[in-house]
Amino acid sequence: MVVIERIETVLVDLPTIRPHQLSMATMNGQTLMLLHVYCSDGTVGIGEGTTIGGLAYGAESPEGMKLAIDTYFAPCLAGADANRVPALMARLDTAIRDNRFAKCAVETALYDALGKRVGLPVSELLGGRVRDSLPVAWTLASGDTVRDIEEAETMLDKRRHNIFKLKIGKRSVAEDVAHVAAIKKALGDRASVRVDVNMAWSELQANQGLPALADAGCELVEQPVSSAQALMRLKGRFPIAVMADESLTGPRSAMEIASQGGTDVFAIKIEQSGGLRAAQQVAAIADAAHIELYGGTMLEAAVSTMASAHVFSTFRSLQWGTELFGPLLLTEEILVNPLQYQDFELQVPSLPGLGIELDTDRVRHFTRKVN
Ligand SMILES: [Mg+2]
Repeated sequence: MVVIERIETVLVDLPTIRPHQLSMATMNGQTLMLLHVYCSDGTVGIGEGTTIGGLAYGAESPEGMKLAIDTYFAPCLAGADANRVPALMARLDTAIRDNRFAKCAVETALYDALGKRVGLPVSELLGGRVRDSLPVAWTLASGDTVRDIEEAETMLDKRRHNIFKLKIGKRSVAEDVAHVAAIKKALGDRASVRVDVNMAWSELQANQGLPALADAGCELVEQPVSSAQALMRLKGRFPIAVMADESLTGPRSAMEIASQGGTDVFAIKIEQSGGLRAAQQVAAIADAAHIELYGGTMLEAAVSTMASAHVFSTFRSLQWGTELFGPLLLTEEILVNPLQYQDFELQVPSLPGLGIELDTDRVRHFTRKVN
């Protein structure tokens, strides 16, 4: 039997290419909690836990995940059969409440190790992929209209992105709509423009903002309001797709939203869902409820981005593509071979496990020295 010998975690601090402005935080860097699962056959699996703006998005932080995994997860898994990933995750679910992001990082590492052991990509362990590459949206979040248009033009020229998501909600509804309209006008039919309000609007503001956004040519609005009930009331009211993001915290919430009226689209994130298979369960619920799918990101670096890509590659429907651009927001490469972004899509590797290799010297260089 192959057993889990030990689990090690580190915090890695990486700079971002520019400040990333969201309604609730401005990010000037990104912190990753990277974990290694060492197995008795010599295989080593890697996982990542990353959040948006520390504790600005949810109850878990990279520092908190490290503490939780070192103190509670690792003893729970030591000596267990490394091949039985669903059984290991069930054991964690029994022993540890919540901690969805940390559980996702552990499940990622367990599947990476299993894939390397049996010679199969993680996507195949998860039932099999239906696509080898994924469309990737880019987020324009400099806060400056002219700079955002220049950034979009550069991305179109490089054939890296032709879907743009604008982070709004910090300014007045009228200012935000003017910002979106100016960008859509400049890009025209060459690009799709969507917005993410990150819950910043009241229902009244959403009722004012959504028709104006639709008139400006914006095709989708992500989580304009915080309440899932209000989100469902907005669906179908204006000619613009309404997507749930923050309201969606795993299969149980997906079931609740789907059964109470639903939204047009679900933004599925592996960390928010509580793991790789939990994200697949959210997708299955969405499919059954005729809710369309979008592959979301917690602005993760390469490891969790690739875990997400393997999961999203197994979705039968992925009508709105993905936003797996997290690694492109960082100035530093932490992989031996960078992820492949080309022709507006991210390639999903077919090597065993996640199909990526950490550059250990680079990771060590950016590892936080005092924890
Ligand atoms: Mg969002």
